[in-house]
Amino acid sequence: MHIAAFHPLVSAPNDHPGGHRYVHVVGAAVWIDERPVDASGVHCIGIVDGDVWWAVDVPLGNDPSDGAAVDLRLFHGVAPEHHWLAAGRAVQIVEWARTHRFCGRCGEATEATAGERAMRCPACGLLSFPRLSPAMITLVTRGESGPDQEALLARGVQFPRPMYSCLAGFVEPGESLEASVVREVHEEVGVTVPNPGDFGSQPWPFPNSLMIGFRADYVGGDIVCDPAEIVDANWYRKDDLPMIPPGISIARKLIDAWVAEGSEG
Ligand SMILES: [Zn+2]
Repeated sequence: MHIAAFHPLVSAPNDHPGGHRYVHVVGAAVWIDERPVDASGVHCIGIVDGDVWWAVDVPLGNDPSDGAAVDLRLFHGVAPEHHWLAAGRAVQIVEWARTHRFCGRCGEATEATAGERAMRCPACGLLSFPRLSPAMITLVTRGESGPDQEALLARGVQFPRPMYSCLAGFVEPGESLEASVVREVHEEVGVTVPNPGDFGSQPWPFPNSLMIGFRADYVGGDIVCDPAEIVDANWYRKDDLPMIPPGISIARKLIDAWVAEGSEG
């Protein structure tokens, strides 16, 4: 019997009764098969639906899928959520291994360590672990809960489409998540929010973020966009939303949850 679940692991369990599946990482696309092709690196990802999943590092220009590999963003739309999470882990582990072949301190070739996900320098002992970059994303609302409440949505300079989303930014070293919300919101649109509340989090493997969602109440300030980050930002009512992000993102989950509040009466 299969269990629809994903349990991340560093090494495969001995005598695993289930099957094996191989997530071939072709650039930033994935192709899953029952057997691994010849590749430069294989890493355990974990148990998915009772099978051991492995990440296979496919060398550049050596696509074994004959073009069938699916970009990780598009894979979200064609795979169950837990398969997408496992594939995202595969891409991040492979990319980490690709970029940590040499010691960042002394330049010596690194070695994989047994029993943990780390590359170790045999010369100076430096350990390198997969990196996650925490980022916060915030839906700022203004006014009492109800049909007249508005949300602050902004169009980032890097958005490929005329889409409006929540405000987001990376957490700085030495900063709490809540402090990063207050700082980023003020930096990006000039608005003050004193009281961010935790909404939830989502692995975001583009390339290695962990997105932490927040809700915050507006207290003051006019919208003044930082032109380096934000093209345009406005207050929007639930019945007059602009183009918003697709369902893959926690930004969309934040907006959808807010819109649903109005329909609960
Ligand atoms: Zn070293």
